[in-house]
Amino acid sequence: MTQVRYEETQAVSALNRVRGMGFKWSLNPYQGCVHDCHYCFARRYHYFRDLSPDKDFSGIVFVKLNIPGLLRRELSRPSWGYETVALGTATDPYQPIEGKYRLTRQCLEVFCRKGSPVSLVSKATMMIRDQDLLAELTPRAGCTVCFSITTLDDDLWRRLEPGTPPPRKRLEVMERLVSAGVNAGVLLAPIIPGITDSNENLTEVVKVATEHGARFLESNVLNLKEGTKQHFMGFLEREYPRLARAYRSVYAGAFAPRYLREGLQTQIAQLKQLYGLGNRYAEQDVPKRPRQLELSIP
Ligand code: SF4
Repeated sequence: MTQVRYEETQAVSALNRVRGMGFKWSLNPYQGCVHDCHYCFARRYHYFRDLSPDKDFSGIVFVKLNIPGLLRRELSRPSWGYETVALGTATDPYQPIEGKYRLTRQCLEVFCRKGSPVSLVSKATMMIRDQDLLAELTPRAGCTVCFSITTLDDDLWRRLEPGTPPPRKRLEVMERLVSAGVNAGVLLAPIIPGITDSNENLTEVVKVATEHGARFLESNVLNLKEGTKQHFMGFLEREYPRLARAYRSVYAGAFAPRYLREGLQTQIAQLKQLYGLGNRYAEQDVPKRPRQLELSIP
């Protein structure tokens, strides 16, 4: 197992402005991720710091110690618009070191106090620790939780996401959160052409997500931007050499061709219809007016 170096840092701001996504703000208490998924698009951020998108991504994790304090200040500004903040867009907010630093939990406490909505994406089972906060946030401010699942096949999981908890354990945690009233579902992403895009794999994820009470299912197809592409192509050469050549043509740019993306999205839409799964925001409206909350948290 790779030795991980944790570097404590001070962030300049907590909230990052995001463009071209389904959310306007993101927050990442950590940079780098020991879950080490080979397709992770966040590998590129290490690459931009002149670190390797391979071993350094999972071997050097930056810990933004001051992020809860910064968030408190930023959400207190009169100009704050109470828009949804996405946690876990560039690193897993519940990777193991969160057990020590509790930065994600402290940030959730701030969101609770301010009555400001959040969405979370994770592959970790540690999220169950914060069930109390997520259950408070859901009705009062708005909270959506996505468990990222690419496959339920053990061999594929170990190859693609070697540092993550087993997918079925993630689904068990999702089910417990749903039972506690949290708007939790599955992000079937990324769908990896030639590896996880078989009808059998996609059907199994949608079916088992339904059986575990997912409130919604979303999906997207792999993209390979600079940094991530270098790492992923190396992975393909080692693990799927016959696919590597096809990928050089299909992924000449960062995205799969439109026909491929649309075909897969149609397939997922049909499976969702078959199993009665909806979209992420269908069942939950973000509160119209922000509220300062009186909560039982310390
Ligand atoms: S868990 Fe998420 S952030 Fe971590 S390596 Fe996997 S895809 Fe990247």
